[in-house]
Amino acid sequence: MAIESYDVAIIGGGPGGYVAAIRASQLGMKVVCIEKRDSLGGTCLNVGCIPSKALLESSELFLQASKNFENHGIIISKPQIDVPAMIARKDKIVKGLGDGISSLFKKNKVNRIIGSGRLVSRNRIEVLEKSGGKLEIDAKFIIIATGSEPASLPCLPMDGEFIVSSSEALNFKTVPKDLVVVGAGYIGLEMGSVWTRLGSNVQVLEFLPKALPLSDSESAALLQRSLEKQGLKFNFDTKVTGGRREGNHIVVECEKAGKKLEFKADKALVCVGRKPNSLGLGLESLGIIIDPRTAQIKVDQFLRTSVPNIYAIGDLVAGPMLAHKAEEEGVAASENIAGGKTTVNHDTIPSVIYTWPELSSVGKTEEQLKEAKVPYKIGKFPFIANSRARTMGESEGTVKILAHENTDRILGVHIFGPRASDMIAEAVAWIEMQASSEDIARTCHAHPSLSEAFKEAAMAVEKKAIHI
Ligand SMILES: Cc1cc2nc3c(=O)[nH]c(=O)nc-3n(C[C@H](O)[C@H](O)[C@H](O)COP(=O)(O)OP(=O)(O)OC[C@H]3O[C@@H](n4cnc5c(N)ncnc54)[C@H](O)[C@@H]3O)c2cc1C
Repeated sequence: MAIESYDVAIIGGGPGGYVAAIRASQLGMKVVCIEKRDSLGGTCLNVGCIPSKALLESSELFLQASKNFENHGIIISKPQIDVPAMIARKDKIVKGLGDGISSLFKKNKVNRIIGSGRLVSRNRIEVLEKSGGKLEIDAKFIIIATGSEPASLPCLPMDGEFIVSSSEALNFKTVPKDLVVVGAGYIGLEMGSVWTRLGSNVQVLEFLPKALPLSDSESAALLQRSLEKQGLKFNFDTKVTGGRREGNHIVVECEKAGKKLEFKADKALVCVGRKPNSLGLGLESLGIIIDPRTAQIKVDQFLRTSVPNIYAIGDLVAGPMLAHKAEEEGVAASENIAGGKTTVNHDTIPSVIYTWPELSSVGKTEEQLKEAKVPYKIGKFPFIANSRARTMGESEGTVKILAHENTDRILGVHIFGPRASDMIAEAVAWIEMQASSEDIARTCHAHPSLSEAFKEAAMAVEKKAIHI
């Protein structure tokens, strides 16, 4: 069997793995990336962040064209949605970006193997190539970046047709008349938004009493109310107990307050979280510690597993399951292999829910501050009082800033509003720089811009906002 030798071998070509590969190569190491999919980019590019955002964009435009263009004086005849064309556009974007990563690999001289990798010793990986061959890779250092996959509900097992995960919901061929979404987390709300905008009657079933339990409660409640106005129907404290096929439909069986409920739909989309791909990689036999509760690999602050030459990053390890977090860890792992001491601060990783309006956050929520007994003050500014938002006709939402009561240091920012995904970058930078609300309040922001709402929220912390 052929044996190839490298300085660094990476298993998984998602945002964690491919970024780690490029960074390691930049640092002068000989690198190979083993990815079982034909295309690079992992969950994020192939069945996650990018395809979902492509569909969110198309469905948002459809909604605008159907409902809001007349407000701008734009008269068009009744818009229609061509689902296959919308899906084809999404696929083209995914393909283009995947080809882009392949080019980056070539540019950076990263070798790529299409196949499934498994550790057979601390320095050796066995690869079952997609082409059918077998290969052994020797590496001084190994980075495991195998990511995660959709978690399933044992009582409602996925069949890929009637009971599906987010991957299939990115490829529906027609608009389901009735869609049940199990789980009111960010993936459920984003995918629910896409199909609601295109005409589905969407019922969201959630076991907990509210949506987005980890988000700032006040901001999440604003988003929930907005989505309700848009047509999503929420059923909280609702436990899914099973499902059955009835002709071309699926009936989802539930319990709520001791009563049995049923929801009949064309499709049931299960979005109950994601589980790390840590099994079947030969890790336990090498002494790599896996948390039995979460299935995440245990790493130290430098992303080293319990075996010092083996690192793990991204969805496989603790912290938010987000692409940009995986990327930061990819950079850090490669820099540490090269002798650095790079760490990733999980407290400054932003999160965004790409509904409309969007909800973005960084730092602590009010609930977390209360629980930790940290004294805080709040500044809020509504987009209705922001001139740019008014010109856009998008004045729903609020910027909320939490600052320390005594030091004024910014502790958390929660933006529910238009383009919140772009606005949060400024908040991340301020928190990284350990800024105070006063720092932001005294920094000039362009007029008219949405970012003025952020400045005014900082001014509101000391009750000196001007435009409210
Ligand atoms: C619908 C959806 C929407 C999302 N939207 C966002 C978003 O807007 N923003 C955001 O930040 N995050 C989003 N995410 C989450 C994001 O996709 C993940 O956090 C991110 O992809 C994790 O990166 P990773 O590199 O750790 O793993 P992954 O992207 O999962 O990549 C791991 C790769 O490893 C490969 N692999 C696994 N086992 C092996 C093996 N044994 N051998 C070889 N290859 C293997 C897999 O094929 C995969 O390509 C979304 C996820 C979903 C499902």
